[in-house]
Amino acid sequence: MNYFNRLVLSFVPLIPRIFVRRIAGKYVAGETKEEALATVKSLNDQGFSATIDILGEHVKSAERATEVTQSYAQLFNEIQKRNLDCNVSIKPTHVGMELSEHLFAENLSLLLAKAKEHDNFLRIDMENSPYTDLTIAAYQSCLTTYQKVGTVFQAYLHRTEKDLLQLFSPHFNFRLCKGIYREDPNIAIQERREISNNFLNLIRIAFKNECYVGIATHDLALLDNIYQLIDEMQIHSSKFEFQVLYGVPMSGWLEKHLEKGYKVRVYVPFGPEWYDYSIRRLKENPNIVGYVMGNFFHKK
Ligand SMILES: Cc1cc2nc3c(=O)[nH]c(=O)nc-3n(C[C@H](O)[C@H](O)[C@H](O)COP(=O)(O)OP(=O)(O)OC[C@H]3O[C@@H](n4cnc5c(N)ncnc54)[C@H](O)[C@@H]3O)c2cc1C
Repeated sequence: MNYFNRLVLSFVPLIPRIFVRRIAGKYVAGETKEEALATVKSLNDQGFSATIDILGEHVKSAERATEVTQSYAQLFNEIQKRNLDCNVSIKPTHVGMELSEHLFAENLSLLLAKAKEHDNFLRIDMENSPYTDLTIAAYQSCLTTYQKVGTVFQAYLHRTEKDLLQLFSPHFNFRLCKGIYREDPNIAIQERREISNNFLNLIRIAFKNECYVGIATHDLALLDNIYQLIDEMQIHSSKFEFQVLYGVPMSGWLEKHLEKGYKVRVYVPFGPEWYDYSIRRLKENPNIVGYVMGNFFHKK
């Protein structure tokens, strides 16, 4: 990371809200369900699949967790009604995992029933390491009632290979990402190149085990290696999809995926809680400040 970026990072908490809102505009599909669904429709029209996420996590009350669950249930209805190519991604602590086992199980089973009602798919995102075991257990319990459900594994965790080897089955569908949280060196790889190497290794293992994998990365060098692996192992395009976050520049790779006949799913976050999400995006890529500043002053 260069000096300017380090400097930007240290000032992130001081960036004015209006400026962060500018950034959010690029990475968040609005504050309302209508805006998000319109974004999904436009992505579908361009040939992309989508997964929709209501921004937020770590809810503090059962009422709020239930409200969020109801909003997700309505999203499933709207996706069906509008005939969109879109599934749903939830964060466990957004629907009550931290508050009570019973509440979380109840909310999850409601969402699973909704997914089943509409023959849709539910993805359970992976949060930081205190929730890894609980999330895997929740996923396994969902599988006993409905198969179109999946969770996420993080390439930076040392445990991931072992977790995957225990879970492989004909219906196993997972998203692989590098992992976004700060984790202790005891449990997580810290070096970027090593994380990428492990990512590639885990994709190889997934391909070998013939499950379905959502390859979630914007790392173009890694994508190059994954393309080679697909060719080398002659993996059919029905066994994987590429996934990206809405708004992250991909230098023509999304079009390249589509031309190859590969499925691309865009993760579309929305909701009033855009602030924290945008700050996270900014911390991941301080170069954004430069681009946004350019647009900001240009438009004024
Ligand atoms: C569809 C999807 C779902 C995800 N779900 C989870 C999850 O459930 N749990 C979890 O821990 N993590 C999740 N992540 C985040 C992931 O773990 C990484 O933190 C993130 O994708 C950055 O890693 P990268 O593989 O893109 O590579 P990097 O090497 O970090 O990035 C590659 C390039 O893309 C740029 N870039 C990457 N991310 C962004 C961004 N957000 N904004 C702007 N530029 C960016 C970087 O500047 C860099 O140039 C998800 C990511 C995606 C794409």
